[in-house]
Amino acid sequence: MPKWKLLTEFTFDSAHYIKDYNGPCGRLHGHTYTVRVEAKSSKLYSSEYCPHPVMVADFRTLRWAKKDVTKGGLDHCVLNDVLPAEYATTAEMIAKYIYDETKKRLTPDIHLKVAVSETPNSWAEYEDD
Ligand SMILES: [Zn+2]
Repeated sequence: MPKWKLLTEFTFDSAHYIKDYNGPCGRLHGHTYTVRVEAKSSKLYSSEYCPHPVMVADFRTLRWAKKDVTKGGLDHCVLNDVLPAEYATTAEMIAKYIYDETKKRLTPDIHLKVAVSETPNSWAEYEDD
């Protein structure tokens, strides 16, 4: 079936440490995280901001994590203090957290993929089956 695919990329700056990690990643340090959010659908929907069914999802909705932490996003925070304890702050778990939080904001049948990068050459992805 033909589909639409949205792809948006953004960055946010935050600090973290990996709990019980034996090495530099165990100490508090920061990254400019790059996030790619991909949303696929064969149907179009209305959004929080638009009453007409003309989009897969609003880009503003897909980019929520870019907002300042005081406005509900992940920018300029210590991720260990903001993510619930079941999410360690590895790139894998940050991708899962952004996936889970984005999923709550979308119609369930939208296929979602979230990729997170801490450094230019390495990515962790989390997506629907
Ligand atoms: Zn790190």
